[in-house]
Amino acid sequence: MLELRNIKKSYQTGDFIQHALKDVSIKFRTNEFVAILGPSGSGKTTLLNIIGGLDRYDQGDLIINHKSTKKFKDQNWDFYRNNCIGFIFQSYNLISHINVLENVEMSTILSGYSKKKRRKKALEALEKVGLKDHIHKKPNQLSGGQMQRVAIARSLVNDPDIILADEPTGALDTKTSKQIMDLIKEIAKDKLVIMVTHNPDLAKEYATRTIEFQDGEILKDSNPIKETEESKDKFKIKKTSMSYQSALSLSFNNLKTKKGRTFITAFASSIGIIGIALILSLSNGFKIKIDEFEKSTLSQAPIIVAEQTMSTEQFQNIEEDKHEEYTKKEEIYPLKNFQSEAHINQLNNDYVEYVKKADSSLVGGISMTRSTNLNLLTKIDDKIKPINSISLFFSIPNSIDGKTSMMIEEHFEAIYGKITNNKEDLYLLVDSKNRISEDTLKALGYDSEKVNFKDIIGKEFKVVENNDYYQKVGSRYIMNNDYEQLYHQSGNLTLKIAGVIRGKKDSDFAKLSGSGITYNSSLLDYIIDHNKDSEIVKAQQEVDYHILTQEHFDLDSDEGKKQKEQILAYLGADTAPAMIQIYPKDFDSKEKLLKYLDRYNKGKNEKEKILYIDQAELITSLSGNIMDAITLVLVAFSSIALIVSSIMVGIITYTSVLERTKEIGILRALGARKKDIRRVFNAEVLIIGFSSGVLGILIARILIFPINNVIEKLSDLAGVAKLNPVHAVILILISVILTLIGGMIPARIASKKDPVIALRTE
Ligand code: ADP
Ligand code: MG
Repeated sequence: MLELRNIKKSYQTGDFIQHALKDVSIKFRTNEFVAILGPSGSGKTTLLNIIGGLDRYDQGDLIINHKSTKKFKDQNWDFYRNNCIGFIFQSYNLISHINVLENVEMSTILSGYSKKKRRKKALEALEKVGLKDHIHKKPNQLSGGQMQRVAIARSLVNDPDIILADEPTGALDTKTSKQIMDLIKEIAKDKLVIMVTHNPDLAKEYATRTIEFQDGEILKDSNPIKETEESKDKFKIKKTSMSYQSALSLSFNNLKTKKGRTFITAFASSIGIIGIALILSLSNGFKIKIDEFEKSTLSQAPIIVAEQTMSTEQFQNIEEDKHEEYTKKEEIYPLKNFQSEAHINQLNNDYVEYVKKADSSLVGGISMTRSTNLNLLTKIDDKIKPINSISLFFSIPNSIDGKTSMMIEEHFEAIYGKITNNKEDLYLLVDSKNRISEDTLKALGYDSEKVNFKDIIGKEFKVVENNDYYQKVGSRYIMNNDYEQLYHQSGNLTLKIAGVIRGKKDSDFAKLSGSGITYNSSLLDYIIDHNKDSEIVKAQQEVDYHILTQEHFDLDSDEGKKQKEQILAYLGADTAPAMIQIYPKDFDSKEKLLKYLDRYNKGKNEKEKILYIDQAELITSLSGNIMDAITLVLVAFSSIALIVSSIMVGIITYTSVLERTKEIGILRALGARKKDIRRVFNAEVLIIGFSSGVLGILIARILIFPINNVIEKLSDLAGVAKLNPVHAVILILISVILTLIGGMIPARIASKKDPVIALRTE
């Protein structure tokens, strides 16, 4: 039972208001064939659209099953359209990119039936209209009459109660018109058919009731319902919706019809993915290579336990100051707080024993370096003063291969003077900001904020031999403190500061070396050679150092203890070494050894702790950080491409929305909700996003081959670039998500399109 009560509808275009329906009231029987006649523009199509729930009335009410539709929401209208209404249009309104069968199935796409059942129903409907042999044709391969048959089949397939036909034969010749009318008449047997026609003869021949329209009003009704006639509640409205799968297959079919464009879109938007995938595989590959390198080479770098140690963090946090890095100024600056930043390791025999007890299967070798003290005298403010060479001289940690001289060439460069082999030449080793420890500068007699190279270069030191420096008095050795005399006596070796050296910019190793005074290994050889006949060294076994030191120092003071240690070191007695280097067998051994060394510090207070430097770790943590930073920057750049491509997908989807306006109208007429329309376009974007992700990964995967070839030619490293499968999956996901975001707005626009206007577009 369907009834229009005082329906009014007007359209406003600019200032002009067109009253399309002026107070129309009609009651329809649940089973009759109504023909609507009237001149063009009299409001017939508007009436059908309002009955079909495609357009909304302004005033009045549409009564379905004795119930008002005033409170109907969009969804209620959508369900009503899908369940109760079948539309047949003058211009057929078939979707051109799918075949006949699929067009008919489209109606059932919202029904929730299984694919099989939907196909069966569509085939039945097509059989009814006599098109069984043409189901695989596309609409443009059919004649007008055949297309209208398809439209009829489509309107029937959901078995609606009401068929609305808007000039179904308007575009057909008389003979075909008759066939179509016969068909409509046949299906009208148990339905309400409301057909608009401009042909009064057809109306007379087929309809059971004729209503004439003029200027939005009913002029004549041939068979109105009498008050006494009973009316039944017949129309069933149930909820329907489009499944994601249907939306996907619909969009997939659409994309199939424009393969070229889809491919180019997918390819263009895959460029960002290709970029990121390549960057990630390169950085991933390099990390693996560095790891392998570290395991094979750097693991053999020793663990160093020196007197002064800074933790990795301390190395990286050394006080920032205003001094320029790698300056060309010929000045040296004091490096403050260096001592307080450093941890002083109290190396003792306990620790030496502990190290020696380490699992021998982990250790490739242990080397103990004992400092050779030099008896040095220099002129400070015109006075001759002794210099403590142990705190002054800086011994660069042994290089990986343990050869100091080679390491100097490789990691350091002279910024003043020349690096020679002369044993007399000393060098100032400054850090990247031309700094040297404040204490070193003070010990040399410089106490200002900056020291010019020319003020310090050429400074001389006299090396006094042991036999002159210490004198035996009875059974004791005492120190000769007549420095003036010692300084000027002949036969002393004269050392001279000959140059300034600085770590090379690209050497991580140099960055870790700190600063101080360095000497040539030839000096070391000379000293060792010269002192081997020393009275002191010869006497070292018989010397009671307690007696020796008590003569000159207060043993209980800190200074006294330090001096005692130094004399012992000088004497070559069995004291703790200045530096211990532990060479692990391999990478895993190193990890275990470090754990072993850490255990020594358990329960000890801060001062007693003995800290080590893990050179390899320091170097790789630096290079690792740089790799991460570079990767991040490159990924950020490629991400721009990714964002641009998602905007592009948005624009292309918008174009697709414009192209598919008609289809949107058809789908809405068939009962699709706004949500379903959004789904169709989201599905389209999803397909593009997924294919561009997959395509991007595939192309990146292929590009990796030539890239690896080039890298191998340049660096001898084979198979560097490697795409991590996890990265690949994440990138595909990102592509899908970004394109979905890009397509969201066009999909919304599509869903908001007015179905009536959409259907009117060509
Ligand atoms: P018919 O189908 O009888 O030819 P319509 O129902 O299509 O007539 O149109 C009735 C009147 O309403 C016409 O004057 C038409 O121009 C006008 N009209 C229909 N739809 C719109 C619209 N969307 N905007 C403005 N005017 C419209
Ligand atoms: Mg019309």
